[in-house]
Amino acid sequence: MSTNDFLAEWDRDNFFHPSTHLAQHARGETPTKVIKTASGVYIEDRDGNRLLDAFAGLYCVNAGYGRKEITDAIAQQAGELAYYHSYVGHGTEASITLAKMILDRAPANMSKVYFGLGGSDANETNVKLIWYYNNILGRPTKKKIISRWRGYHGSGLVTGSLTGLELFHKKFDLPVEQVIHTEAPYYFRRENLDQSESEFVAHCVAELESLIEREGADNIAAFIGEPVLGTGGIVPPPEGYWAAIQAVLKKHDILLIADEVVTGFGRLGTMFGSEHYGFEADIITIAKGLTSAYAPLSGSIVSDKVWKVLEQGTDENGPIGHGWTYSAHPICAAAGVANLKLIDDLNLIANAGSVGAYLNQSMKSALADHPQVGDIRGEGMLCAVEFVKDRDSRTFYDAADKIGPQVSAALLSQDKVIARAMPQGDIIGFAPPFCLSEQEADKVVAATVRAVKTVL
Ligand code: PLP
Repeated sequence: MSTNDFLAEWDRDNFFHPSTHLAQHARGETPTKVIKTASGVYIEDRDGNRLLDAFAGLYCVNAGYGRKEITDAIAQQAGELAYYHSYVGHGTEASITLAKMILDRAPANMSKVYFGLGGSDANETNVKLIWYYNNILGRPTKKKIISRWRGYHGSGLVTGSLTGLELFHKKFDLPVEQVIHTEAPYYFRRENLDQSESEFVAHCVAELESLIEREGADNIAAFIGEPVLGTGGIVPPPEGYWAAIQAVLKKHDILLIADEVVTGFGRLGTMFGSEHYGFEADIITIAKGLTSAYAPLSGSIVSDKVWKVLEQGTDENGPIGHGWTYSAHPICAAAGVANLKLIDDLNLIANAGSVGAYLNQSMKSALADHPQVGDIRGEGMLCAVEFVKDRDSRTFYDAADKIGPQVSAALLSQDKVIARAMPQGDIIGFAPPFCLSEQEADKVVAATVRAVKTVL
């Protein structure tokens, strides 16, 4: 038996994989893929296949793979001090430095950062902080959180509820009752085809207003949204959407959480997505790009407005009863410091903006006329291609047609390029590391054209 064979057997027998068809995998119907090394935008498996990772893992390895500056910082921190907690004023040079580096980069209204480990726990923290905030302000009913259909905010109890994708609710007794959903700003799939973009924005705003009226603003604490919908299909908002939504929220004293797990630290070509779209959040969720996934670390950046109330709360009630053992873990914080520094030193955010624009433009030039391509969209280093059965009659594929998985499988087998088949089944997504070159972008586009021709 080769090493690959016994690893596959151990995998099937022992490993409970996330977001996986468990029965098929246990039966050996889906392969075990063992990734061994990586450098730049390429990963290599145990068979020696070199694959261009055009999704940066799970849109997280923003600085690219194999960065010695980050791995050296991790090794040094592990040797010096692998762990100490951050309760009751404890910190390390790395965690304190990283908090400062984050606030130096965050919008001016932001005040402090609470560290977690992943995007899901950071959003759980956000909801708890917002409930605490309203209790301290004497507004005990103001607790519901509005999220959008197609939003992705994690897989926990509250965060799985915030996520507006049915797969993450089905059979899990979610969403919980404090979470309510409103329309996604998904212009391509609008019901009324006569609507212009600005009319569609007005429609989204009217939907939000009527939800607030139905539930009562006194019962609604916050609205959460990704600047660009990610797992919901990589959908940038129509022009003017965020300003219009922010105005409604302000009117009803509803806080705004910008979930920047994907967009934070440069994916749109600007430091934060809220900056890109010109809106101001009360809390910003960060994770993936904070360490480029070299170590698990997330954060909730809270504004001055929220922080002041949290401080008041502890003066009235004692220490805040919210803490994780691994909050601000020194090794993860050291990875974060080295990563943010590297992103600055190599000017990677500017590269994400310019090569991202090049990738989007090239994808449009190459595929826009294809009759089964309904939409090509993106922003910065995010791009999506949505397939349709027939563009003129707007006939859509069913998820069961598995067009996205077929196209991404062809990309992989023919040209060794990794694109993500998004969970909707008819969209493939691209979110490469920020160090992607124009030549590599050309390779991704050529491979996509070939894969589309093969499947459609
Ligand atoms: N929020 C957004 C926007 C995400 O894309 C993700 C993960 O993809 C999460 C939250 C959850 O992060 P994690 O998987 O680290 O818990």
